[in-house]
Amino acid sequence: MTTLASYRDHLAEIGKLTSAAALLGWDLQTHMPPKAAPYRAQVQGKLARMAFELSTDDALGAYLAELRKDASLTLLEKASVRVNGKAYDRARSVPAAFVEERQIAQSESQGAWVEARRTNDFSLFQPHLEKMVGYARQLADYYGYEEHPYDALLEDFEPGLTCRQLRSIIEPLKEGLVPFLRQLLTKGTPPDASVLAGDYDPDELRRLARHALDIIGYDFAAGALDDVAHPFTSTIGPNDVRVTNRYPTESPLPSLFGALHEGGHALYNQAFTEELYALNLAGGASNGIHESQSRMIENQVGRSRAFWKYFRDVLAEHFPKFATVSPEALYRACNVVAPSFIRVEADEVTYNFHIMLRFEIEAGLMEGSIAVADLPNRWNQAMKDYLGIVPPTDSAGVLQDVHWSFGYMGYFPSYMLGNLYAAQMLPAIRRSLPTLDASLERGDLKPLVGWLRENVHCHGAAYEPDELIQRISGEPLNPEHFVRYVREKYSDVYAL
Ligand code: ZN
Repeated sequence: MTTLASYRDHLAEIGKLTSAAALLGWDLQTHMPPKAAPYRAQVQGKLARMAFELSTDDALGAYLAELRKDASLTLLEKASVRVNGKAYDRARSVPAAFVEERQIAQSESQGAWVEARRTNDFSLFQPHLEKMVGYARQLADYYGYEEHPYDALLEDFEPGLTCRQLRSIIEPLKEGLVPFLRQLLTKGTPPDASVLAGDYDPDELRRLARHALDIIGYDFAAGALDDVAHPFTSTIGPNDVRVTNRYPTESPLPSLFGALHEGGHALYNQAFTEELYALNLAGGASNGIHESQSRMIENQVGRSRAFWKYFRDVLAEHFPKFATVSPEALYRACNVVAPSFIRVEADEVTYNFHIMLRFEIEAGLMEGSIAVADLPNRWNQAMKDYLGIVPPTDSAGVLQDVHWSFGYMGYFPSYMLGNLYAAQMLPAIRRSLPTLDASLERGDLKPLVGWLRENVHCHGAAYEPDELIQRISGEPLNPEHFVRYVREKYSDVYAL
Protein backbone atom coordinates (compact mmCIF):
# COMPACT_ATOMS: atom_id res chain seq x y z
CA MET A 1 0.00 0.00 0.00
CA THR A 2 1.36 3.45 -0.84
CA THR A 3 1.97 5.99 1.93
CA LEU A 4 -0.84 8.12 0.54
CA ALA A 5 -3.30 5.21 0.71
CA SER A 6 -2.21 4.41 4.30
CA TYR A 7 -2.60 8.07 5.21
CA ARG A 8 -6.12 8.15 3.73
CA ASP A 9 -7.04 4.96 5.59
CA HIS A 10 -5.78 6.43 8.84
CA LEU A 11 -7.84 9.62 8.31
CA ALA A 12 -10.90 7.51 7.50
CA GLU A 13 -10.57 5.70 10.85
CA ILE A 14 -10.33 9.03 12.70
CA GLY A 15 -13.32 10.27 10.68
CA LYS A 16 -15.52 7.38 11.81
CA LEU A 17 -14.70 7.99 15.47
CA THR A 18 -15.29 11.72 15.07
CA SER A 19 -18.63 11.02 13.42
CA ALA A 20 -19.75 8.73 16.25
CA ALA A 21 -18.65 11.34 18.81
CA ALA A 22 -20.55 14.07 16.96
CA LEU A 23 -23.73 11.97 16.91
CA LEU A 24 -23.46 11.33 20.66
CA GLY A 25 -22.85 15.03 21.29
CA TRP A 26 -25.85 16.02 19.18
CA ASP A 27 -28.06 13.44 20.92
CA LEU A 28 -26.88 14.65 24.34
CA GLN A 29 -28.32 18.09 23.64
CA THR A 30 -31.48 17.06 21.79
CA HIS A 31 -33.00 13.71 22.82
CA MET A 32 -30.92 12.03 25.54
CA PRO A 33 -32.91 11.31 28.71
CA PRO A 34 -31.32 13.14 31.68
CA LYS A 35 -30.60 9.98 33.65
CA ALA A 36 -28.41 8.68 30.82
CA ALA A 37 -25.81 11.45 31.36
CA PRO A 38 -23.22 9.61 33.55
CA TYR A 39 -22.84 6.61 31.22
CA ARG A 40 -22.92 8.84 28.14
CA ALA A 41 -20.00 10.81 29.59
CA GLN A 42 -18.00 7.56 29.88
CA VAL A 43 -18.79 6.57 26.30
CA GLN A 44 -17.87 10.01 24.99
CA GLY A 45 -14.67 9.96 27.02
CA LYS A 46 -13.74 6.59 25.52
CA LEU A 47 -14.35 7.78 21.95
CA ALA A 48 -12.43 11.02 22.55
CA ARG A 49 -9.43 9.03 23.87
CA MET A 50 -9.51 6.68 20.87
CA ALA A 51 -9.68 9.60 18.45
CA PHE A 52 -6.86 11.40 20.28
CA GLU A 53 -4.66 8.30 20.17
CA LEU A 54 -5.18 7.87 16.42
CA SER A 55 -4.59 11.60 15.82
CA THR A 56 -1.25 11.51 17.66
CA ASP A 57 -0.17 8.06 16.50
CA ASP A 58 3.50 7.64 15.44
CA ALA A 59 2.31 6.01 12.21
CA LEU A 60 0.43 9.16 11.23
CA GLY A 61 3.56 11.21 11.95
CA ALA A 62 5.56 8.94 9.64
CA TYR A 63 2.99 9.26 6.81
CA LEU A 64 2.98 13.04 7.18
CA ALA A 65 6.78 13.23 7.10
CA GLU A 66 6.83 11.17 3.85
CA LEU A 67 4.00 13.08 2.20
CA ARG A 68 5.47 16.48 3.02
CA LYS A 69 8.24 15.60 0.54
CA ASP A 70 5.89 14.21 -2.12
CA ALA A 71 5.61 16.61 -5.07
CA SER A 72 3.04 14.49 -6.92
CA LEU A 73 0.13 15.22 -4.55
CA THR A 74 -2.98 17.04 -5.75
CA LEU A 75 -3.68 20.53 -4.40
CA LEU A 76 -6.26 19.15 -1.98
CA GLU A 77 -3.90 16.40 -0.81
CA LYS A 78 -1.20 18.99 -0.17
CA ALA A 79 -3.66 21.10 1.81
CA SER A 80 -4.63 18.01 3.79
CA VAL A 81 -1.00 17.29 4.69
CA ARG A 82 -0.46 20.93 5.70
CA VAL A 83 -3.64 21.22 7.82
CA ASN A 84 -3.47 17.77 9.42
CA GLY A 85 0.29 18.05 9.87
CA LYS A 86 -0.11 21.26 11.83
CA ALA A 87 -2.82 19.72 14.01
CA TYR A 88 -0.64 16.65 14.57
CA ASP A 89 2.37 18.72 15.67
CA ARG A 90 0.22 20.78 18.03
CA ALA A 91 -1.46 17.76 19.60
CA ARG A 92 1.93 16.05 20.09
CA SER A 93 3.43 19.12 21.76
CA VAL A 94 1.10 18.90 24.78
CA PRO A 95 1.89 16.26 27.45
CA ALA A 96 -0.98 13.87 28.20
CA ALA A 97 -0.63 14.53 31.95
CA PHE A 98 -1.23 18.25 31.37
CA VAL A 99 -4.35 17.55 29.28
CA GLU A 100 -5.77 15.34 32.02
CA GLU A 101 -4.96 17.76 34.86
CA ARG A 102 -6.51 20.64 32.94
CA GLN A 103 -9.66 18.63 32.14
CA ILE A 104 -10.29 17.93 35.83
CA ALA A 105 -9.69 21.60 36.73
CA GLN A 106 -12.02 22.61 33.89
CA SER A 107 -15.00 20.73 35.30
CA GLU A 108 -14.38 22.20 38.79
CA SER A 109 -14.06 25.64 37.26
CA GLN A 110 -17.26 25.23 35.29
CA GLY A 111 -19.13 24.22 38.44
CA ALA A 112 -17.76 27.28 40.26
CA TRP A 113 -18.80 29.54 37.37
CA VAL A 114 -22.39 28.20 37.45
CA GLU A 115 -22.55 28.90 41.19
CA ALA A 116 -20.91 32.33 40.89
CA ARG A 117 -23.34 33.34 38.17
CA ARG A 118 -26.32 32.04 40.13
CA THR A 119 -25.34 33.95 43.27
CA ASN A 120 -23.84 36.95 41.43
CA ASP A 121 -20.56 36.48 43.28
CA PHE A 122 -17.44 36.83 41.09
CA SER A 123 -15.14 35.97 44.01
CA LEU A 124 -16.32 32.34 43.90
CA PHE A 125 -15.09 32.06 40.32
CA GLN A 126 -11.93 34.18 40.63
CA PRO A 127 -9.47 31.53 41.93
CA HIS A 128 -10.66 29.05 39.27
CA LEU A 129 -10.33 31.59 36.48
CA GLU A 130 -6.81 32.43 37.71
CA LYS A 131 -5.97 28.74 37.39
CA MET A 132 -7.57 28.57 33.92
CA VAL A 133 -5.52 31.55 32.73
CA GLY A 134 -2.41 29.78 34.03
CA TYR A 135 -3.31 26.68 32.00
CA ALA A 136 -3.99 28.79 28.91
CA ARG A 137 -0.53 30.40 29.21
CA GLN A 138 1.07 27.00 29.72
CA LEU A 139 -0.75 25.68 26.65
CA ALA A 140 0.51 28.64 24.60
CA ASP A 141 4.05 27.79 25.71
CA TYR A 142 3.63 24.18 24.61
CA TYR A 143 2.29 25.25 21.21
CA GLY A 144 4.92 27.97 20.84
CA TYR A 145 4.56 31.48 19.36
CA GLU A 146 6.69 34.26 17.99
CA GLU A 147 5.19 37.42 19.38
CA HIS A 148 2.26 37.04 21.74
CA PRO A 149 1.01 34.01 23.72
CA TYR A 150 -2.49 34.77 22.45
CA ASP A 151 -1.32 33.99 18.88
CA ALA A 152 -0.72 30.36 19.85
CA LEU A 153 -4.33 29.96 21.00
CA LEU A 154 -5.89 31.92 18.12
CA GLU A 155 -4.42 29.36 15.76
CA ASP A 156 -7.13 26.84 16.76
CA PHE A 157 -9.88 29.18 15.59
CA GLU A 158 -8.34 31.55 13.01
CA PRO A 159 -5.26 29.90 11.51
CA GLY A 160 -2.56 32.46 10.78
CA LEU A 161 -4.16 35.40 12.58
CA THR A 162 -2.20 37.27 15.28
CA CYS A 163 -3.00 39.47 18.24
CA ARG A 164 -1.22 42.37 16.51
CA GLN A 165 -3.45 42.00 13.42
CA LEU A 166 -6.57 41.86 15.56
CA ARG A 167 -5.59 45.09 17.28
CA SER A 168 -5.07 46.77 13.91
CA ILE A 169 -8.51 45.58 12.79
CA ILE A 170 -10.26 46.75 15.94
CA GLU A 171 -8.90 50.33 15.90
CA PRO A 172 -10.68 51.44 12.71
CA LEU A 173 -13.83 49.61 13.82
CA LYS A 174 -13.88 51.60 17.05
CA GLU A 175 -13.22 54.87 15.24
CA GLY A 176 -15.89 54.16 12.67
CA LEU A 177 -18.59 52.75 14.90
CA VAL A 178 -18.43 54.13 18.46
CA PRO A 179 -19.38 57.71 17.41
CA PHE A 180 -21.84 56.34 14.84
CA LEU A 181 -23.71 54.40 17.51
CA ARG A 182 -23.97 57.55 19.67
CA GLN A 183 -25.31 59.46 16.68
CA LEU A 184 -27.83 56.75 15.86
CA LEU A 185 -29.16 56.66 19.40
CA THR A 186 -29.33 60.42 19.94
CA LYS A 187 -30.31 61.76 16.49
CA GLY A 188 -31.89 58.80 14.68
CA THR A 189 -35.53 57.77 14.48
CA PRO A 190 -35.80 54.23 15.86
CA PRO A 191 -37.96 51.77 13.89
CA ASP A 192 -41.29 50.76 15.39
CA ALA A 193 -41.00 47.11 16.47
CA SER A 194 -44.35 46.96 18.28
CA VAL A 195 -45.88 45.23 15.25
CA LEU A 196 -43.95 42.09 16.24
CA ALA A 197 -45.27 41.87 19.79
CA GLY A 198 -47.62 38.99 20.55
CA ASP A 199 -47.86 35.49 21.89
CA TYR A 200 -46.89 33.06 19.13
CA ASP A 201 -47.68 29.37 18.86
CA PRO A 202 -44.35 27.49 19.10
CA ASP A 203 -45.53 24.78 16.67
CA GLU A 204 -46.30 27.42 14.05
CA LEU A 205 -42.92 29.07 14.74
CA ARG A 206 -41.31 25.68 14.10
CA ARG A 207 -43.17 25.36 10.79
CA LEU A 208 -42.01 28.88 9.88
CA ALA A 209 -38.39 27.90 10.69
CA ARG A 210 -38.69 24.82 8.42
CA HIS A 211 -40.17 26.99 5.69
CA ALA A 212 -37.27 29.46 5.99
CA LEU A 213 -34.75 26.60 5.84
CA ASP A 214 -36.47 25.32 2.68
CA ILE A 215 -36.21 28.75 1.10
CA ILE A 216 -32.46 29.04 1.66
CA GLY A 217 -31.92 25.55 0.20
CA TYR A 218 -31.15 23.54 3.33
CA ASP A 219 -31.39 19.85 2.35
CA PHE A 220 -33.72 18.07 4.80
CA ALA A 221 -32.91 14.73 3.15
CA ALA A 222 -29.37 15.22 4.47
CA GLY A 223 -30.25 16.88 7.76
CA ALA A 224 -32.74 17.39 10.56
CA LEU A 225 -34.21 20.18 12.68
CA ASP A 226 -34.55 19.63 16.44
CA ASP A 227 -35.35 21.71 19.53
CA VAL A 228 -32.66 22.83 21.99
CA ALA A 229 -32.03 25.58 24.55
CA HIS A 230 -28.91 26.94 22.80
CA PRO A 231 -29.02 26.42 19.02
CA PHE A 232 -26.08 24.90 17.15
CA THR A 233 -25.30 23.04 13.93
CA SER A 234 -23.75 19.60 14.07
CA THR A 235 -22.00 17.77 11.26
CA ILE A 236 -22.27 14.04 11.84
CA GLY A 237 -20.69 13.06 8.53
CA PRO A 238 -21.28 13.10 4.76
CA ASN A 239 -24.96 13.86 4.04
CA ASP A 240 -25.78 14.36 7.71
CA VAL A 241 -25.68 18.00 8.83
CA ARG A 242 -28.24 18.78 11.52
CA VAL A 243 -29.53 22.11 12.75
CA THR A 244 -31.27 22.98 16.01
CA ASN A 245 -33.43 25.88 17.09
CA ARG A 246 -35.44 27.32 19.97
CA TYR A 247 -38.86 28.99 19.91
CA PRO A 248 -39.41 31.91 22.30
CA THR A 249 -43.10 32.83 21.92
CA GLU A 250 -43.03 36.62 22.39
CA SER A 251 -41.76 37.40 18.85
CA PRO A 252 -41.37 35.47 15.58
CA LEU A 253 -37.88 36.89 15.05
CA PRO A 254 -35.55 34.97 17.41
CA SER A 255 -36.57 31.57 16.03
CA LEU A 256 -36.62 32.85 12.45
CA PHE A 257 -33.14 34.38 12.64
CA GLY A 258 -31.93 31.39 14.65
CA ALA A 259 -33.00 29.10 11.80
CA LEU A 260 -31.42 31.35 9.15
CA HIS A 261 -28.18 31.57 11.15
CA GLU A 262 -27.81 27.84 11.74
CA GLY A 263 -29.02 27.23 8.19
CA GLY A 264 -26.13 29.39 6.95
CA HIS A 265 -23.66 27.19 8.84
CA ALA A 266 -25.40 24.08 7.51
CA LEU A 267 -25.31 25.17 3.84
CA TYR A 268 -21.51 25.40 4.20
CA ASN A 269 -21.23 21.90 5.66
CA GLN A 270 -23.76 20.31 3.33
CA ALA A 271 -21.53 21.37 0.42
CA PHE A 272 -18.48 19.36 1.52
CA THR A 273 -17.53 16.67 -0.99
CA GLU A 274 -16.53 13.06 -0.27
CA GLU A 275 -12.95 14.02 -1.13
CA LEU A 276 -12.92 16.79 1.51
CA TYR A 277 -14.17 14.26 4.07
CA ALA A 278 -11.61 11.68 2.94
CA LEU A 279 -8.76 14.19 3.42
CA ASN A 280 -10.10 15.52 6.74
CA LEU A 281 -10.67 18.96 5.21
CA ALA A 282 -14.45 18.90 5.71
CA GLY A 283 -14.56 21.90 8.00
CA GLY A 284 -14.66 25.63 7.45
CA ALA A 285 -11.55 27.62 6.55
CA SER A 286 -11.79 28.97 10.11
CA ASN A 287 -14.42 29.67 12.73
CA GLY A 288 -14.59 33.25 11.46
CA ILE A 289 -15.22 32.17 7.86
CA HIS A 290 -17.84 29.73 9.13
CA GLU A 291 -19.52 32.50 11.07
CA SER A 292 -19.45 34.69 7.93
CA GLN A 293 -21.70 32.16 6.21
CA SER A 294 -24.25 32.10 9.03
CA ARG A 295 -24.17 35.91 9.29
CA MET A 296 -24.56 36.24 5.53
CA ILE A 297 -27.81 34.29 5.55
CA GLU A 298 -29.06 35.76 8.84
CA ASN A 299 -28.19 39.43 8.25
CA GLN A 300 -27.24 40.21 4.66
CA VAL A 301 -30.22 38.15 3.48
CA GLY A 302 -32.63 37.82 6.43
CA ARG A 303 -32.39 41.41 7.60
CA SER A 304 -32.41 42.94 4.09
CA ARG A 305 -35.09 45.08 2.49
CA ALA A 306 -35.09 42.91 -0.64
CA PHE A 307 -35.76 39.68 1.25
CA TRP A 308 -38.68 41.13 3.22
CA LYS A 309 -40.43 42.08 -0.03
CA TYR A 310 -40.78 38.34 -0.50
CA PHE A 311 -40.83 37.09 3.05
CA ARG A 312 -43.72 39.21 4.35
CA ASP A 313 -46.15 36.86 2.54
CA VAL A 314 -44.37 33.79 3.92
CA LEU A 315 -44.68 35.14 7.45
CA ALA A 316 -48.35 35.95 6.82
CA GLU A 317 -48.96 32.36 5.65
CA HIS A 318 -48.05 31.26 9.18
CA PHE A 319 -49.32 34.30 11.09
CA PRO A 320 -52.12 35.96 9.08
CA LYS A 321 -52.04 39.22 11.05
CA PHE A 322 -48.91 40.19 9.09
CA ALA A 323 -50.81 40.29 5.77
CA THR A 324 -51.67 43.92 6.52
CA VAL A 325 -48.16 44.96 7.63
CA SER A 326 -45.95 46.36 4.87
CA PRO A 327 -42.67 44.61 3.98
CA GLU A 328 -40.91 47.92 4.67
CA ALA A 329 -42.31 48.06 8.23
CA LEU A 330 -41.11 44.49 8.86
CA TYR A 331 -37.69 45.24 7.39
CA ARG A 332 -37.34 48.19 9.75
CA ALA A 333 -38.72 46.29 12.75
CA CYS A 334 -36.05 43.62 12.45
CA ASN A 335 -33.26 46.21 12.35
CA VAL A 336 -33.65 47.89 15.72
CA VAL A 337 -30.36 48.90 17.33
CA ALA A 338 -30.28 48.77 21.12
CA PRO A 339 -27.19 48.43 23.34
CA SER A 340 -27.73 45.40 25.56
CA PHE A 341 -25.73 43.67 28.27
CA ILE A 342 -25.87 40.25 26.66
CA ARG A 343 -23.73 39.43 23.62
CA VAL A 344 -26.00 36.77 22.16
CA GLU A 345 -28.89 39.25 21.95
CA ALA A 346 -26.88 42.02 20.32
CA ASP A 347 -27.81 43.67 16.98
CA GLU A 348 -25.52 44.13 13.96
CA VAL A 349 -24.20 47.52 15.09
CA THR A 350 -23.39 46.72 18.72
CA TYR A 351 -22.42 43.05 18.40
CA ASN A 352 -18.73 43.62 17.67
CA PHE A 353 -18.30 45.83 20.73
CA HIS A 354 -19.10 42.82 22.91
CA ILE A 355 -16.31 40.93 21.17
CA MET A 356 -13.76 43.76 21.31
CA LEU A 357 -14.02 44.06 25.05
CA ARG A 358 -13.63 40.30 25.51
CA PHE A 359 -10.63 40.22 23.19
CA GLU A 360 -8.93 43.11 25.01
CA ILE A 361 -9.44 41.37 28.34
CA GLU A 362 -8.22 38.00 27.04
CA ALA A 363 -5.09 39.47 25.46
CA GLY A 364 -4.39 41.35 28.72
CA LEU A 365 -4.84 38.19 30.80
CA MET A 366 -2.52 36.22 28.52
CA GLU A 367 0.26 38.84 28.58
CA GLY A 368 -0.24 39.50 32.31
CA SER A 369 -1.19 43.18 32.00
CA ILE A 370 -4.67 42.53 33.44
CA ALA A 371 -5.27 40.66 36.72
CA VAL A 372 -8.29 38.38 37.07
CA ALA A 373 -9.33 40.27 40.22
CA ASP A 374 -9.80 43.43 38.10
CA LEU A 375 -12.15 41.82 35.57
CA PRO A 376 -15.49 43.06 36.93
CA ASN A 377 -14.20 46.66 36.86
CA ARG A 378 -12.54 46.32 33.47
CA TRP A 379 -15.70 44.78 32.07
CA ASN A 380 -18.03 47.47 33.35
CA GLN A 381 -15.72 50.28 32.23
CA ALA A 382 -15.48 48.83 28.72
CA MET A 383 -19.28 48.40 28.50
CA LYS A 384 -19.61 52.05 29.41
CA ASP A 385 -16.98 53.20 26.89
CA TYR A 386 -18.35 51.14 23.99
CA LEU A 387 -22.07 50.90 24.62
CA GLY A 388 -22.81 53.61 27.18
CA ILE A 389 -24.39 51.13 29.62
CA VAL A 390 -23.18 49.34 32.76
CA PRO A 391 -24.58 45.91 33.70
CA PRO A 392 -26.53 45.92 36.97
CA THR A 393 -24.84 42.71 38.15
CA ASP A 394 -21.73 40.65 37.35
CA SER A 395 -24.05 37.80 36.32
CA ALA A 396 -25.30 40.05 33.50
CA GLY A 397 -21.74 41.23 32.89
CA VAL A 398 -18.40 39.51 33.28
CA LEU A 399 -20.00 36.18 34.27
CA GLN A 400 -22.36 35.81 31.29
CA ASP A 401 -20.39 33.46 29.00
CA VAL A 402 -19.38 29.88 29.72
CA HIS A 403 -16.16 30.04 27.61
CA TRP A 404 -13.72 31.36 30.24
CA SER A 405 -14.85 28.76 32.78
CA PHE A 406 -13.12 26.17 30.55
CA GLY A 407 -10.16 28.50 30.04
CA TYR A 408 -11.00 28.86 26.33
CA MET A 409 -9.20 31.95 25.08
CA GLY A 410 -9.12 33.11 21.47
CA TYR A 411 -12.59 31.89 20.56
CA PHE A 412 -14.57 35.14 20.73
CA PRO A 413 -12.81 37.07 17.91
CA SER A 414 -14.23 34.58 15.37
CA TYR A 415 -17.72 35.95 16.04
CA MET A 416 -16.57 39.45 15.12
CA LEU A 417 -14.50 38.28 12.15
CA GLY A 418 -17.57 36.52 10.75
CA ASN A 419 -19.34 39.87 10.48
CA LEU A 420 -16.29 41.46 8.85
CA TYR A 421 -15.73 38.66 6.34
CA ALA A 422 -19.40 38.65 5.35
CA ALA A 423 -19.38 42.42 4.79
CA GLN A 424 -16.19 42.11 2.72
CA MET A 425 -17.61 39.27 0.59
CA LEU A 426 -20.78 41.17 -0.23
CA PRO A 427 -19.30 43.72 -2.72
CA ALA A 428 -17.56 40.83 -4.53
CA ILE A 429 -20.86 38.93 -4.64
CA ARG A 430 -22.68 41.97 -6.00
CA ARG A 431 -20.05 42.36 -8.74
CA SER A 432 -20.69 38.76 -9.89
CA LEU A 433 -24.44 38.90 -9.27
CA PRO A 434 -25.65 42.38 -10.21
CA THR A 435 -29.28 41.19 -9.90
CA LEU A 436 -28.85 39.80 -6.39
CA ASP A 437 -31.55 42.00 -4.87
CA ALA A 438 -34.05 41.12 -7.60
CA SER A 439 -33.55 37.40 -6.88
CA LEU A 440 -33.92 37.94 -3.12
CA GLU A 441 -37.16 39.81 -3.81
CA ARG A 442 -38.44 36.60 -5.44
CA GLY A 443 -37.19 34.50 -2.53
CA ASP A 444 -34.68 32.89 -4.88
CA LEU A 445 -31.42 32.25 -3.04
CA LYS A 446 -29.98 29.89 -5.65
CA PRO A 447 -27.68 32.46 -7.28
CA LEU A 448 -26.27 33.57 -3.91
CA VAL A 449 -25.87 30.07 -2.47
CA GLY A 450 -24.39 28.89 -5.77
CA TRP A 451 -21.80 31.68 -5.53
CA LEU A 452 -20.96 30.80 -1.93
CA ARG A 453 -20.67 27.14 -2.85
CA GLU A 454 -18.26 27.86 -5.67
CA ASN A 455 -16.14 30.48 -3.89
CA VAL A 456 -16.24 29.45 -0.21
CA HIS A 457 -17.90 26.13 0.58
CA CYS A 458 -16.26 23.81 -1.95
CA HIS A 459 -12.77 24.54 -0.59
CA GLY A 460 -13.48 23.26 2.93
CA ALA A 461 -10.41 23.92 5.05
CA ALA A 462 -8.03 23.86 2.10
CA TYR A 463 -7.28 27.60 2.30
CA GLU A 464 -6.41 29.60 5.38
CA PRO A 465 -8.84 32.46 5.99
CA ASP A 466 -6.51 35.27 4.82
CA GLU A 467 -5.85 33.43 1.56
CA LEU A 468 -9.55 32.76 1.01
CA ILE A 469 -10.66 36.35 1.61
CA GLN A 470 -7.83 37.56 -0.66
CA ARG A 471 -9.00 35.24 -3.45
CA ILE A 472 -12.59 36.36 -3.04
CA SER A 473 -12.20 40.10 -2.59
CA GLY A 474 -8.73 40.85 -3.96
CA GLU A 475 -7.48 42.25 -0.63
CA PRO A 476 -6.67 41.09 2.91
CA LEU A 477 -9.22 41.40 5.70
CA ASN A 478 -10.28 45.05 5.75
CA PRO A 479 -12.70 46.27 8.45
CA GLU A 480 -13.70 49.31 6.36
CA HIS A 481 -16.19 47.14 4.44
CA PHE A 482 -18.11 46.40 7.61
CA VAL A 483 -18.00 50.03 8.77
CA ARG A 484 -19.40 51.17 5.41
CA TYR A 485 -22.06 48.44 5.36
CA VAL A 486 -23.29 49.35 8.85
CA ARG A 487 -23.19 53.11 8.33
CA GLU A 488 -25.06 52.97 5.01
CA LYS A 489 -27.70 50.52 6.18
CA TYR A 490 -28.46 52.05 9.54
CA SER A 491 -28.25 55.70 8.43
CA ASP A 492 -31.12 54.75 6.13
CA VAL A 493 -33.09 52.69 8.69
CA TYR A 494 -32.72 55.43 11.33
CA ALA A 495 -33.28 58.30 8.84
CA LEU A 496 -30.05 60.11 9.80
ZN1 ZN B 1 -22.79 30.84 14.42
